[in-house]
Amino acid sequence: MASRGNKQEEFGKEFDMRFIHNRLASYSDWPFGEDCSCTPEKMAKAGFFHCPTENEPDLVKCYVCLKELDGWEPSDDPWLEHKRHSGKCPFLDYCNPDCSKKMTIENFLKLEKERQIILVRKEYSNVLEQVSVYSKQARKQMEVIVNKN
Ligand SMILES: [Zn+2]
Repeated sequence: MASRGNKQEEFGKEFDMRFIHNRLASYSDWPFGEDCSCTPEKMAKAGFFHCPTENEPDLVKCYVCLKELDGWEPSDDPWLEHKRHSGKCPFLDYCNPDCSKKMTIENFLKLEKERQIILVRKEYSNVLEQVSVYSKQARKQMEVIVNKN
């Protein structure tokens, strides 16, 4: 099952992104340089990793809340953008813009727990959406059968 493999691969990649050096390494093709506010270092410190697509070369994702953002401007501050678009993200509670807040093991585990809850909720929401689509299709098929008789 290809989709399951992709999900596990994606899950593993997001889990690796808990380390800032892995997030920073993801910015090899980042279109903004040192003269901008959204440098790779600031992006990584704000919890984002770079996951570009063909149509969205500046797409990033928070490894905790899974919020995806693109359409970056050179003057955008990654931490503030994270706060503005996903203010309840637990990463913002456990970390700070310059990464000077020490991550204790207790807080690391609390953050990982929050991340897992977000992942399960997202997956549950996707399954609910699929069930809704399938049930609408089944209803249409039943209506066709009923109307034939
Ligand atoms: Zn987040």
